[in-house]
Amino acid sequence: MATEAFLQQLMTNPDRLNSLAEDAKELALFHGIITRTHETPNSSEVVTYFPVTLFPTPVPKAAFLQALAVQTHYNTLVDKISQDPDFLEEALTGTIQADDFTARLFGIYRQVQQEGRAQSIVVGLNRSDYMLDQRDDGTVSLKQIEINTISAAGFGTTDHLPVVHRHTLKSVGLLKESESIPDTNSITPGMSAALAKGWELYGQPKAVILFLVEDVQISRLTHLCMEKELWNRNIPVIRRRFEEVSRRASLGDDKKLFIDGLEVAVVYFRYGYMPDNYTEETWDARLLMERSLAVKCPDISTHLAGTKKVQQVLAKPGVLEKFFPGQPQIVEQIRATFTGLYTLDMGPEGDQAVAMALAIPDKFVLKPQREGGGNNYFGEDIVRVLQEVKSEKRRAAYILMDRIRPRTDLNVLLRRGLPLKITSVCCELGICGAYVRHGEEMVLNEVPGHILRTKSIEHNDAGILAGVSVSDNPLIS
Ligand code: ADP
Ligand code: MG
Repeated sequence: MATEAFLQQLMTNPDRLNSLAEDAKELALFHGIITRTHETPNSSEVVTYFPVTLFPTPVPKAAFLQALAVQTHYNTLVDKISQDPDFLEEALTGTIQADDFTARLFGIYRQVQQEGRAQSIVVGLNRSDYMLDQRDDGTVSLKQIEINTISAAGFGTTDHLPVVHRHTLKSVGLLKESESIPDTNSITPGMSAALAKGWELYGQPKAVILFLVEDVQISRLTHLCMEKELWNRNIPVIRRRFEEVSRRASLGDDKKLFIDGLEVAVVYFRYGYMPDNYTEETWDARLLMERSLAVKCPDISTHLAGTKKVQQVLAKPGVLEKFFPGQPQIVEQIRATFTGLYTLDMGPEGDQAVAMALAIPDKFVLKPQREGGGNNYFGEDIVRVLQEVKSEKRRAAYILMDRIRPRTDLNVLLRRGLPLKITSVCCELGICGAYVRHGEEMVLNEVPGHILRTKSIEHNDAGILAGVSVSDNPLIS
């Protein structure tokens, strides 16, 4: 690969490397590829360039197109799961006995089901993540890591990153390669369009879209990108923290959701996907929003559809067929992206998975029902955790997954404070999906774009906020 050869040269020329890195950072700042800092996450007085790679990372065209092509089916699948109480109940029975967080979410789900859902419009914004599994013959195959159905981020201020990488390639004489970076500037408009559609269908021009945001608002500027799109359409947006919703929101006639005198048409959850996002009061606030007439993005059932347990159950024989009867091609397209997924529920199948993982832990990843990076177990940690829980019901809080061995490349990770060095990295491709369902009808089912995140292979787990991954672009080859 041309960039790889160039990186080899750069290793012996630190001045050149430094100057390329400085150029990339300046261009990032120039194009608004910025972030608030960990030191002052709630202030815009000091910002820095968003963590990025110096070079784009090669991604084979076939795998890239495959990931884009399957996404509308993933949108449909997530939505179908969210409407299937029997499936969710059965899939999550063992998990909710073992995992308090999933149990709490499920409790809200049950309550809303019993009461009857007030709102038949759903907005889904998700992101399906993949790694390129390296086969023995040197080719790669696209394998799904997970699908994020709540607070699926990674776009916004980075939408213009192709500009930076195209420039880097041009400035080192790789002109032709610079044309092989696809655009990403349609992601934020595309994702926002689904929220706009939900708002429009709600049909109350004065009602607002409520962004439920974190207490620590390091991602403020990425949210702003979406807010701006919505305001451009004359859609009023407010943002509130969970605790504010808990103190100031209420239900009016017909379960209309109000906060600070404003009617809420859509709640967009950018928060509420981790246990420590909640207190007793904010659990009540989540229930209030779920029971309300407001359109939810996502609603509680779509949130549950994104659990790792559901992902594992989908990989069982015959399950996808149930969601796509008479559509074997779609089933095949989705299944082709699955890697081995194994139950740890009590019973002989779970026992077998435990034995398998204990025998060769390096072949697997042990995953609890958590989001946000940094929660999975690898290698000897799998043995430690499984030895502790293997004979008890609490093992059902986890699932087991084949460990993907992604292709590695050389690159330079640019992050404030990180020394400049050439690093072995692997990338993770995320495809953004957007849909809106109104009753029985899918009124929007789109694929607004892709993101790429890259990390040093020293790290098993990932996450941009966790300080591990950085934003990248695929160089389609
Ligand atoms: P989270 O919901 O916390 O983001 P993920 O399932 O996305 O959990 O896993 C976090 C990270 O762990 C991924 O971004 C990837 O780097 C790594 N990882 C997850 N599953 C696998 C796997 N099967 N093989 C290799 N690495 C994995
Ligand atoms: Mg993830």
